[in-house]
Amino acid sequence: MDTQYPVIAKRGPFRLPPNLQRYEEAREQFGWDEVTSYLDGLPGDKWNIAHEAIDRHLSGRADRVAIRWLGRKGDRREYTYAELAEATSRFASGLRALGVGKGDRVFLLSTRIPELYIAALGALKNGSVAAPLFSAFGPEPIQTRVSMGQGKVLLTTEQLYKRKVAGIRSQLPSLDHVIVVGGHVDGTVGFDDLLKEGDPVTRSEPMDPEDMALLHFTSGTTGTPKGAVHVHRAVLHHYISASYALDLHPEDIYWCTADPGWVTGMSYGIIAPLAHGITSIVDEGEFDADRWYRTIEEQRVSVWYTAPTAIRMLMMAGESVATQYDLSSLRFVASVGEPLNPEAVIWGTKAIGLPIHDNWWQTETGGIMIANFAGEEIRPGSMGRPLPGIEATILRRDDNGKVRLNADGTAEEETTPLTEGELALRPGWPSMFRGYLGMEERYRRSFAGGWYCSGDLAERDEDGYFWFVGRGDDVIKSAGHLIGPFEVESALIEHEAVAEAGVIGKPDPVAGEVVKAFVALNDGWEWSEDLRKGLLAWGRVKLGASVAPREIELCQDLPHTRSGKIMRRLLKAWELGLPTGDTSTLEGEET
Ligand code: ATP
Ligand code: MG
Repeated sequence: MDTQYPVIAKRGPFRLPPNLQRYEEAREQFGWDEVTSYLDGLPGDKWNIAHEAIDRHLSGRADRVAIRWLGRKGDRREYTYAELAEATSRFASGLRALGVGKGDRVFLLSTRIPELYIAALGALKNGSVAAPLFSAFGPEPIQTRVSMGQGKVLLTTEQLYKRKVAGIRSQLPSLDHVIVVGGHVDGTVGFDDLLKEGDPVTRSEPMDPEDMALLHFTSGTTGTPKGAVHVHRAVLHHYISASYALDLHPEDIYWCTADPGWVTGMSYGIIAPLAHGITSIVDEGEFDADRWYRTIEEQRVSVWYTAPTAIRMLMMAGESVATQYDLSSLRFVASVGEPLNPEAVIWGTKAIGLPIHDNWWQTETGGIMIANFAGEEIRPGSMGRPLPGIEATILRRDDNGKVRLNADGTAEEETTPLTEGELALRPGWPSMFRGYLGMEERYRRSFAGGWYCSGDLAERDEDGYFWFVGRGDDVIKSAGHLIGPFEVESALIEHEAVAEAGVIGKPDPVAGEVVKAFVALNDGWEWSEDLRKGLLAWGRVKLGASVAPREIELCQDLPHTRSGKIMRRLLKAWELGLPTGDTSTLEGEET
């Protein structure tokens, strides 16, 4: 925990009153029944995410722009809620005509183009399961995931089909149809043809709330990606969490930079903003500091949800780039995916005029669990507090990392503030995963003593704010101390030369492990013996000798997952000359 950063007091006066203002009161009064009443549902206690996201808005917001797409080369396309309803209806009925029905898995492998959004929502409308893949995956990860998920349909683009799918198609026996966006390809169904022949008014298939809706693969940061199963009822949490933790208001222009290949891009890039009936920006392009700032300026983005890796890149580009743009439309900025260094929270206040609100969740949780809120104080470096409706705790672990149980079988909760343990959640919120596909035992192992155990280590302070320590697998044990890599990385990036850092434990005969850091430098800096020594000394001053890195090495291209997380397990494997394991989610890799 980093206490040197002052708390950012409750802000205000607000341009719009935050949705969550009296935190304790909101928690006390919260009930899922009330959230249910904010949404439609379908007759007979049936649900469909697509209905809540699209058709619900046909009375009242039909002409509001749902998706404004910004093409890579400057082209633009817009879909109102009415147009999106029609396109998804056509897609859903097209699937039906192909013999694809309830529960069948529709895999999505596409760059960020409107057809991807139509297909995802159309599949849900049809009662099929939407299973997103990342468009940069090579043939092997595609084959593994489609086989695991028993994909019946794959939606992709002409180019991706030819490059990645055609060669493995014969090895995918479950795959009955490939739908292709773009030109005609033999043996596939054309997306445009499917839409042309489809029924423009198709009702959303009434689903049991517990029916499977989404299949998401985890990021593979710590090992082989797992397929997490989510259900239609999850939309209750998508909706309410976006109210509380993203502070969505009806007239917002919202931009989630995450790709729908990952859970953030689906839960908060597609479902939640649409469930709120607001306008979402979808940018086909990749990260570029000028492009991103220009997008906020031109589109008058008011709520922005991004990731620490992007924020670190914006920091690298320099505050002076940010100040060239008019970012005054922004009202709220949030981040997820990795720990957000306190430095980055403060940078936000200087460069874009707003603090960045960190929040924490996982593929498994389906939605935001712990957050810094618009109307509450922010503790830089903290993930914030649990959302209303979410009970979170810290569980004690034994020396082998197993959760300790009381005599009655319940788990031992940590009662001493700022003592680290496993971050756990009380099961029962609607977007909780219902299983790891094909990994029953792994799923069961995620629960202990009445809690879902996240695998992350954290601390809770006396006011209920949670502080991330590290992933269970990444934590370093050095001479009796438990050291979270995040704390060390945060200290290093405070040095003016350091843009990003990845920290691992390196086996050591005396200490068990010693801390080793890999750093990427900011523009204009060169690696030298003096700088290395300077950084070692900086670490000792900031962290104390027992926590400071013992070794520091330059690694200008730190390995990241495609969703932007530092892959410490690869740094470790490289350092120790060990096998690298599953690298399907490694950025830049085409397997
Ligand atoms: P895998 O489970 O395959 O190793 P992954 O855990 O990275 O991959 P995700 O579900 O995409 O897959 O990521 C969730 C994890 O990301 C969390 O468990 C946590 O370790 C990290 N994370 C997400 N948000 C935050 C945050 N705000 N602060 C710290 N860590 C975060
Ligand atoms: Mg995980």
